[in-house]
Amino acid sequence: MADDKSFDADYAVVGLGSMGSFAFWQLAKRNKRVIGFEQYTPGHDQGAGHGETRIFRTAYGEGVEYVPLLQQARSLWQEFQTEAGIEIYTENKGTMFGPIGDAFIETVEESVHTYKLPHKKFSAEEAKQAYPQIKFKDNHKIICEEYAGFVRPELAIETAVKQGVKLGGTAYTEHPVTAIETDENGVLISVNEKQFRVKKVIVSAGGWTNSLLPQLNLPLELERQVLVWYDAKKPELFTQDKFPIFSRVVNGEGFYGFPTLDGKTVKVAIHHGGGDIIHHPNEVEREIHQRDLDKVTELVKEYFPDLKPEPVKAKTCFYTNTPDEHFIIGEAPSLSNVILLGPMAGHGFKFAPVIGKIGADLALEETSDLDIAIFDPNRFNK
Ligand SMILES: Cc1cc2nc3c(=O)[nH]c(=O)nc-3n(C[C@H](O)[C@H](O)[C@H](O)COP(=O)(O)OP(=O)(O)OC[C@H]3O[C@@H](n4cnc5c(N)ncnc54)[C@H](O)[C@@H]3O)c2cc1C
Repeated sequence: MADDKSFDADYAVVGLGSMGSFAFWQLAKRNKRVIGFEQYTPGHDQGAGHGETRIFRTAYGEGVEYVPLLQQARSLWQEFQTEAGIEIYTENKGTMFGPIGDAFIETVEESVHTYKLPHKKFSAEEAKQAYPQIKFKDNHKIICEEYAGFVRPELAIETAVKQGVKLGGTAYTEHPVTAIETDENGVLISVNEKQFRVKKVIVSAGGWTNSLLPQLNLPLELERQVLVWYDAKKPELFTQDKFPIFSRVVNGEGFYGFPTLDGKTVKVAIHHGGGDIIHHPNEVEREIHQRDLDKVTELVKEYFPDLKPEPVKAKTCFYTNTPDEHFIIGEAPSLSNVILLGPMAGHGFKFAPVIGKIGADLALEETSDLDIAIFDPNRFNK
């Protein structure tokens, strides 16, 4: 390899979005020479990291194997906001409910038992007393976990980049990377007319991964999602202390929501819900249509009688789905010195600080002390 002087930095992070901003922060925190590239301004609304709030929960319906990562993510959210001196993560508990026997709610229960997570299990009658804002059904399994709440995505991303810069990293924002090439001297990153040479690159480009590294041909699908806000009839019932985040299963689909942030409105959304499938973020229909709102409004009418069932605001976003709904993390197949940090399969934000840490560990040590085998980027070729 060439000597140190011929490198612009030791490490680069391409995509300072939800995951990349935290990898950038982690590398800078460890006193490494790191540069980051972001095509927009960090905290923008064109990728997957916007919409005011993201759910954090530890009792994980998507798989018990995620719990150790979530436990570390929780500590890192706390450490990160203490360092930044602002509130980014709010722990206000989480109510998970769904029909008895449903895979999501049963895995939530398995998680709390396997990892002894602090929680309460409610009968429908007890839950109605504790959370009168929600209409529970008698056949529901209802679990309220302590280590749940929400993070503020735009603020988290902006702050991680700022903290990284404060610690010595260089962030090139409004800098779209046009090519990443590898050779015996590391990695060459092209940004418009300029080129940067680094020893290793972390690619955290979310829904843009396949356009940036088309040779990987990852089996990704982008799925349009819509977030919807409703006015509360009695906003005092939906404050952080009275209304935990909720995640429930209805007709096999996820339905989730948050306490009010502005003292007026409550944000809810359907998870997946058959959103339009596209293959590039530019194809996401950003305009909101009546059909985007109707299904969510029906659920609001059914489960939240204290919300006014007329949407007052809505926003689009997209998931970058993988066939098995697990993340893609690890060295890129057949590309040396390129580490993939995502895509995150539509449920990744809560993990951002631990994924950033894993990214830094992979860049520096080529290994992680957390079990990330299920995220192996090579698994699709087997
Ligand atoms: C509506 C919605 C609700 C969600 N709710 C939750 C939730 O409650 N809890 C949860 O845990 N997760 C949730 N998620 C999922 C989570 O937000 C995503 O998994 C996560 O944000 C993905 O992060 P990322 O870093 O992979 O992508 P992004 O945050 O999109 O980051 C990718 C970045 O790379 C940049 N980039 C791409 N190409 C280039 C290039 N060539 N040059 C420079 N920069 C480039 C992009 O501009 C972008 O900033 C939700 C997602 C959506 C859409």
